[in-house]
Amino acid sequence: MEGSLAKFVLSQMKTELLQDNHKFTYRRKQVKGTKIYWMCSQKKAKKCYARATTEVKDGVQRIVSILGPHTHSSELMRKKVKEVEKEAIQNAARNPTLSTRVVLAEVATKLQTDSMAVDTSSSKSDTLSKAMFNGRKEHWT
Ligand SMILES: [Zn+2]
Repeated sequence: MEGSLAKFVLSQMKTELLQDNHKFTYRRKQVKGTKIYWMCSQKKAKKCYARATTEVKDGVQRIVSILGPHTHSSELMRKKVKEVEKEAIQNAARNPTLSTRVVLAEVATKLQTDSMAVDTSSSKSDTLSKAMFNGRKEHWT
């Protein structure tokens, strides 16, 4: 994503945030010459120290570097996680011999291959297991 055009979104506080291709957002920290330094907008909330640098050249602002990793998921990841989980639940409902563990491992693998750091906590696995269980009940009773 380095070199891509800088995109911006408005925060709830109506301040301009930099948004990268994964939909992580960054708050402006410092301007030095043509370079602008940004901190992850979740710095306080998630103790995230990911940073970004943009540069203005010929009136165009581009992302020149992103320093991660983030300690949390982005909006895009959360969407992706939901999609993959939904698919897994439907798949589990159709294949009653699949064990929950296998399905969960599949979900984890799918999310990893998208090279996204996804926080998959154990509580979330529980939620997914329950959803799979309920999906099967609906499908087979
Ligand atoms: Zn972050």
